[in-house]
Amino acid sequence: EGEFFCAFIRDITERKSAEAKLLKLNSSLIKHTKDLEASNKNLEQFAYVASHDLQEPLRMINSFMQQLNIKYGESLDERARKYIHFALDGATRMRQIILDLLEFSRVGISEENEENIDLLELLKEIKLLFRKVIQEKKADVEIGEMPQILASRSMLRQVFQNLIGNALKYSIKDTPVKIKIECKDMDTHWLFSVQDNGIGIPKDSLDKIFVIFQRLHSREEYEGTGIGLAITKKIIDTMGGKIWAESKLGHGSTFFISLPKVHLQE
Ligand code: ADP
Repeated sequence: EGEFFCAFIRDITERKSAEAKLLKLNSSLIKHTKDLEASNKNLEQFAYVASHDLQEPLRMINSFMQQLNIKYGESLDERARKYIHFALDGATRMRQIILDLLEFSRVGISEENEENIDLLELLKEIKLLFRKVIQEKKADVEIGEMPQILASRSMLRQVFQNLIGNALKYSIKDTPVKIKIECKDMDTHWLFSVQDNGIGIPKDSLDKIFVIFQRLHSREEYEGTGIGLAITKKIIDTMGGKIWAESKLGHGSTFFISLPKVHLQE
């Protein structure tokens, strides 16, 4: 009987020490998360301040270069005028990068409230927005059954506008574009997919494309700045969801979004 009692005590002691270890681990995890959140906030603030404050000096460069061109362009030789042209071109590109950064750092701080959104309606709106390209490319944009979800309208619009815009943009020349947007009910999640029959994405770039300013093509081939998917991912992250892509080079890509049905927006 004594033996049994000892074993019982030992059992409890082991459990207590395991519990203590777990508690310690838990509190150190919480601390790590808090640190990460803080450094993330710092970075975001840095991106915001930097991009905001860079606008003014850039405006000065731009406007004085323009003045130089207007007032002295005539008396300068061809080469000098070319230099001014390159400088202005650089300033224009820099402006776009700054605007993109500013937009990126603002994702998630919208004051807009969540509302019940009829996704089918939203997708039809987006389709209307792209009607010119859809016509030009003879694209067939098929929308499956869609749920109503609680979310910020502007965020959701941006997400699907980016994905559909890309599906239209990265198409194969002279091939009728086929885009399919679907949603599956996964009980706790919605699984959205946007599928195209475009140029596809190399396997080793499937993660890279979600990184800010990462592009797989030159501006001459396909216009763009490489911000769309980064913003899309940031929005999905703030909604507690996941986004990823699958693709077969030369045959098309599918972008997947998994969104928890119940989510708490930060
Ligand atoms: P942008 O279109 O301005 O380059 P994105 O962030 O939207 O920026 O996309 C990043 C890169 O991912 C693109 O440059 C392109 O190479 C690739 N990409 C995105 N969507 C698709 C798609 N549907 N098919 C093929 N490539 C794509």
